[in-house]
Amino acid sequence: MAEIWILRLGHRPERDKRITTHVALTARTFGAKGIIVSTKDEVLEDSVMDVVHRFGGDFTIRTGVSWHSFLKEFKAKGGRIAHLTMYGMPVDDVAKNVSLDKDLLIVVGAEKVPAELYQIADFNISVGNQPHSEVAALAILLDRLSQGSWVEKEFEGGTIKVLPCARGKNVINPAEREDMP
Ligand code: SAM
Repeated sequence: MAEIWILRLGHRPERDKRITTHVALTARTFGAKGIIVSTKDEVLEDSVMDVVHRFGGDFTIRTGVSWHSFLKEFKAKGGRIAHLTMYGMPVDDVAKNVSLDKDLLIVVGAEKVPAELYQIADFNISVGNQPHSEVAALAILLDRLSQGSWVEKEFEGGTIKVLPCARGKNVINPAEREDMP
């Protein structure tokens, strides 16, 4: 099965700390393998990896990566690039044509993205043609690509598992649960 990766472009550590964390956590929950962030930010790395250690799975984060070389290498290895932009083609038209036989890199911006990205991308994808949030756009694209199957994803390991409940909170330690009769 091909992997889905996210590239976050133009992250500004002070200003975008919360929203880039949300992009990463949304990527993880909706089935992506990891996130690459163009700006170095160790605080961001720590906060995302803290969630991975507590809630499980093998999601990874790398920051301070040269986006241009990364895109070139990703394409050279046969991967495809999808760029989320309100100027792109409608998600429902494009997502059904994106076959996941090859790795896919989904690019989301923070500030204005470089113009050449629109040419480098194999797909420029819009989630509506109004400006909104990279978190919302990413969640909808990942949902469409997985046809909703992200919801079944199991996160191995970790120290916390949340079980659905109608009221209140039901949180267990999976290791303790295995010992239960
Ligand atoms: N101010 C920036 C600009 O004008 O280029 C964009 C800021 S926007 C909040 C950040 C990112 O959200 C964009 O780079 C894009 O990836 C994503 N985004 C926002 N609205 C979108 C839409 N309607 N469809 C797809 N992606 C969208």
